[in-house]
Amino acid sequence: MNEADSRHLGSQLEALGYQSTDQADDADLVVLNTCVVRQSAEDKAASRLGAIGKIKKRRPEMTIGLMGCMVGMREAPHLKKRFPYVDVFMPPSDTEPLLDYLAEQGICDEAEALETRTRAIRDAIQDGEHILPALRRGNTVLANIPIVLGCSHACSFCVIPYRRGAERSVPRAEVLSEVRSLVEQGVREVMLLGQIVDRYGMDLDEEVDLADLLRDVAAIDGLYRVRFLTSHPNWMTDKLLDTVAEVDKICPHIEVPIQAGNDEVLEDMRRGYTVQQYRELIARIRARLPDAAINTDIIVGFPGETEAQFEDTYDLMQDLRLDKIHIAKYSVRPKTIATRTMTDDVHPDEKERRRKRLDDLFAKTLGEKNEAYLGQTVEILVEDQQKGRWRGRTPDNRLVFFEHARDLRGHLVDVTIHWTGPFSLLGKLCSVKSFAPDKLALVT
Ligand code: SAH
Repeated sequence: MNEADSRHLGSQLEALGYQSTDQADDADLVVLNTCVVRQSAEDKAASRLGAIGKIKKRRPEMTIGLMGCMVGMREAPHLKKRFPYVDVFMPPSDTEPLLDYLAEQGICDEAEALETRTRAIRDAIQDGEHILPALRRGNTVLANIPIVLGCSHACSFCVIPYRRGAERSVPRAEVLSEVRSLVEQGVREVMLLGQIVDRYGMDLDEEVDLADLLRDVAAIDGLYRVRFLTSHPNWMTDKLLDTVAEVDKICPHIEVPIQAGNDEVLEDMRRGYTVQQYRELIARIRARLPDAAINTDIIVGFPGETEAQFEDTYDLMQDLRLDKIHIAKYSVRPKTIATRTMTDDVHPDEKERRRKRLDDLFAKTLGEKNEAYLGQTVEILVEDQQKGRWRGRTPDNRLVFFEHARDLRGHLVDVTIHWTGPFSLLGKLCSVKSFAPDKLALVT
């Protein structure tokens, strides 16, 4: 989400005449976009902000913006007190305060010209037009597209609804024109994002759901792949699963967090489903999409989580053999229901032990599952180069590296796997595909 917000802001600033730089030291304007889902993320943001503040001490003319979940949806006077050197505060996904500030200050141009341009930018955003910032143009293969902003599902541990506001969907036409603009600039794969992405459209006047939107996005010429994230166990429809099965460009990759494998903990978390219902969901996904990767999120050390309750989670994961587990140690978040009504009583060492135990299980399971790819030929979309090797992912989101002299960024290629580990596969290129509107044609 933040990555997409930063991209939007970057392109708007370029339209105002700014140029992007990767050096905060000599920038006229620095915007720090922040995540506070866990305390560690918040600490990192605060320390980075402190470092940027030091630069401003040397160059007081520099403008500093703070954006994202650290700011939240409402005025934050305590932040102004804590970080007096910040000039402008922006809620998640909202670049208006900065545009207003720059127009008021006439900082980058004559005020009137700036007003006119700011207005033009606002119109363009409304029409769903988006450009990549110059630093990323021509080298960005993947893009994140927020389609559901905010969240209205108060899970007891989660700060997101308090910081990102109520759930609201981006109109279908806006999503589609954003994807089209990005594809024209070389993007080949998009990830549609929402806290509960399956609820897309429920708040819109138009009759549209995630499955319809995925179909429309997949129909865009020049786009090779589309993914979506994050699903909530209660909202995944058969229509969605059937659509993933039917439409080639939609990747068989489902992210559906369970958070805990014990009913009492799930109830305290206010997740709204039981372990049995989650098991049934996994069976339903596997029946329709036998080759799909199913990934999940788990929080260890939630208030009151006993050893036995954690073991239930461990056993469930051992049983379900999912494809990826994002494990987080429970972190107290301001204003959440858990913070108001429960005690963070699992010792940090114990949280770490539980995290490690699940992590080891996950590495073992994935190592075994990945072995099945040995000798197989898989299709990957080449994203980037890393240490002299090309990197890309399979449709089911497995990371693959291979060596080749030609620049293959943005191409779909077939690679034959000759080595596998838990976190990546190594392969040899066997063919490069180019894209024709309705089918993939072999060119070399
Ligand atoms: N909307 C998604 C999750 C978004 S937050 C869902 O409904 O599941 C991403 C992940 O951060 C969550 O899945 C959760 O595992 C983790 N997380 C959120 N709040 C947390 C907290 N207070 N402590 C630790 N991890 C947390």
